[in-house]
Amino acid sequence: MDAATVTSWMQEIEAAVRAERDHLVQLDSAIGDGDHGTNMVRGFEAVVLTLDGALDSDGGSPPGKLLILAGRTLVSTVGGASGPLWGSALRSGGRVLGDQVTFDGPQLVEVLAAALASVKDLGTAAVGDKTMVDALEPAVDTLRSELAAGTPLDQAVDEAAKAAELGMRATIPLQARKGRASYLGERSVGHQDPGATSTALILRALQKAVVRES
Ligand code: ADP
Ligand code: MG
Repeated sequence: MDAATVTSWMQEIEAAVRAERDHLVQLDSAIGDGDHGTNMVRGFEAVVLTLDGALDSDGGSPPGKLLILAGRTLVSTVGGASGPLWGSALRSGGRVLGDQVTFDGPQLVEVLAAALASVKDLGTAAVGDKTMVDALEPAVDTLRSELAAGTPLDQAVDEAAKAAELGMRATIPLQARKGRASYLGERSVGHQDPGATSTALILRALQKAVVRES
């Protein structure tokens, strides 16, 4: 994997959140303030534009630098909680790669693990709190264990995306303990978390990018 994988990943995310914008808005209207779909679309549209610009100005930005640039762009364009959270996640993930031109499966695990650590650090959420962590953590764990078991990368990333989707659905019966949804107390039960939903889209986008660029 290389810079093209990162660029593809960001393009796939942008397309996915655009296609699911209304659904994400609906989910966030039920237990939040209804802006999650617009937040994610605004953020990732800006990311794609920024990466396009970076490509024009110097054709050779390494993948880690692109992730850092993407993270910075999210922080500066998204007002809601998801902007700083995914922004710092991508920046931390990017820092893992330094100036490397390519990266392999185990390094992808380290990128995602750093992203997860940064979300948990900033948001202090754990699995079961009904947040994006409920989708991201099982995805990272699954990717790590599948690769360790010798599963080929494309299949391992598919399993990771499935784990994120499972984690997303598992937020439905939970009561939110972090973020805006936690203000609702028991009334947050019975609704799928918007951030876990977009996180599952982000992992599915990664799987598509890995397949496309391999
Ligand atoms: P806001 O809540 O500021 O309107 P968004 O609607 O864009 O921001 O994002 C809401 C999502 O952010 C939630 O569904 C949840 O998954 C995630 N989130 C909120 N607070 C936290 C937190 N402290 N830790 C992890 N994720 C969080
Ligand atoms: Mg919101």
